[in-house]
Amino acid sequence: MIRHIYVHIPFCARICPYCAFYKDLLDRSQTWRFCEAVLRDLDLQRAHFAISPSTIYFGGGTPTALMTAQLEFLLEGFRRRIDLSSVEEWTMEANPGSVSARKAAVLKKFGVNRISLGVQSWDDELLKLLGREHSAQQAEQSFHLLRAAGFSNINIDLMFSLPGQTIKQWRLTLEKTIALQPEHISAYCLTYEEDTEFFLRHARGEFRQDADMDADFFEMAMSMLEDAGYEHYEISNYARSGFSSVHNRAYWLGKDYLGIGPSAVSTIGMQRWQSVCDYRTYIERALSGKPPRASSENLTREMKRTERIALSLRTRDGVCASDLRHFAQQTNDFIALGLLQKSKDNFVLTRKGKAVADSVAEALL
Ligand code: SF4
Repeated sequence: MIRHIYVHIPFCARICPYCAFYKDLLDRSQTWRFCEAVLRDLDLQRAHFAISPSTIYFGGGTPTALMTAQLEFLLEGFRRRIDLSSVEEWTMEANPGSVSARKAAVLKKFGVNRISLGVQSWDDELLKLLGREHSAQQAEQSFHLLRAAGFSNINIDLMFSLPGQTIKQWRLTLEKTIALQPEHISAYCLTYEEDTEFFLRHARGEFRQDADMDADFFEMAMSMLEDAGYEHYEISNYARSGFSSVHNRAYWLGKDYLGIGPSAVSTIGMQRWQSVCDYRTYIERALSGKPPRASSENLTREMKRTERIALSLRTRDGVCASDLRHFAQQTNDFIALGLLQKSKDNFVLTRKGKAVADSVAEALL
């Protein structure tokens, strides 16, 4: 039984120069066909699998770049095709530049109960540098508009270690976010991903990365958000009690999930596959009744174990000790360095360890 679904909507009104997700510029001549293709893809999947999701996550790209009528068409299509009676959490990623009262009302009406709002910063200069289409004021208006539409579970996405960002700017962004009282906050350190404009600028020496600064930004986020009552339940994620993301937790626990849409990955049992990335090819394939699958692989127990370590190490509950039985030496070294600690049957990162989580994970894989 499929319990978790991810749907990828690749359209963006603008392409941010740091973004490595699969996305493309919004082309209104393609979006209706795209929505039809998504529902055909869902039909193809439900011919093979029993689907009764407890979580659905619409990500992108920018799902709210679609028109209100298209979102309605998609959500209604899901409602008609699959049993939604067990849905506990239905998330929609939204960008402040493309949220409207009508869209919010439609999302609410069809059962979306969690919004992830891509704010990134409350500083207009930094937003400009990031190539975002919204201003801080627009982001605030969008947040209030979503609240007015009845959304009582909102995540605000933030980024830190941005080029030129000062610790004071980051503190102001955190203060502003806390003042709005969202239920969930994600705070990501900027990474310079290959094939992005930021990567080239970093390679040319225009932007610099400073591990000490990264650690200071991260430490500030942890301190301020925990003081404000948010639980740090994953390296980049903070939530008020009862509002950690059910969908993301399932993913981190290695549960099966079905991906719909271009570039979406699915993992069911020991099988993993990915849909074609190019959305035009995706549309053609899905509308002609062909599975839009681009590649697939058989997973081994070892691959699953490795993924479990990498993902669960980042969470509050940590890694099951039995998964680390072949790494006794490394585990003891990290404990001696104060980066890891034992908690019941698991190993969890200490506060100091969280700042270097990726390096610890690398040594254990
Ligand atoms: S809006 Fe999001 S998905 Fe689109 S380009 Fe920017 S960061 Fe990437």
